[in-house]
Amino acid sequence: MDPVMQWYMEDRGKRAVEALKKREFNALYVETQLQAKEIVLQEIPPGVTVGIGGSVTIRGMKVLDDLRARGNKVIDHWVTASLFSEENFQLRRAQQTCDVFLSSTNAITLEGQLVNIDGGGNRVNALGFGPQKAIVVAGVNKIVPDLESALRRIREITVPLNCRRINSSPPCIAAGKCVDCRVPLRVCRITTIIEWKPPFFSDYLIVIVGENLGY
Ligand code: SF4
Repeated sequence: MDPVMQWYMEDRGKRAVEALKKREFNALYVETQLQAKEIVLQEIPPGVTVGIGGSVTIRGMKVLDDLRARGNKVIDHWVTASLFSEENFQLRRAQQTCDVFLSSTNAITLEGQLVNIDGGGNRVNALGFGPQKAIVVAGVNKIVPDLESALRRIREITVPLNCRRINSSPPCIAAGKCVDCRVPLRVCRITTIIEWKPPFFSDYLIVIVGENLGY
């Protein structure tokens, strides 16, 4: 990697880590997603159930097969043919009470807040309460200065790319920007800002990676 870019990513990542620690999160910075994957595997005990948030970052790390291979029960609602089937609904429900919830986040502010917008709510709910432990992995591309830029990032980058991924076309796809739509295809339904480590998690680990990961 270009050393100047590497410096920028590390500087930004470490600033976010320090801000997160001040809000009682357990946070650390690593250079590569391979290092992040090793940490995830170390942090998840064999045999426990692992809920997976809707996350391109987590799938991109290719950690789910490793977890399954060593005996972890992986609760992944992306495995069903339909996102709206009864089976899919039950998987999303089971994520709420898993042992470890593994996810990314749509944005992290340099003030140490996690910002997310969900269409279904299972990911943002599990990030706030339910599982015993949370592990969040995020590339430095998710770091933004403040709450306003976090919401803008999600509407301008996260939503269109995820909609493209699932072949959905809410009005922002044609407009090229968020138009605060009022249609059934709207994916921006539940917005959360996690201001401080949620108290009922035994551990809330945030791993920031010095790469661009996910949307
Ligand atoms: S509110 Fe509607 S138009 Fe705006 S980003 Fe969300 S889905 Fe797209």
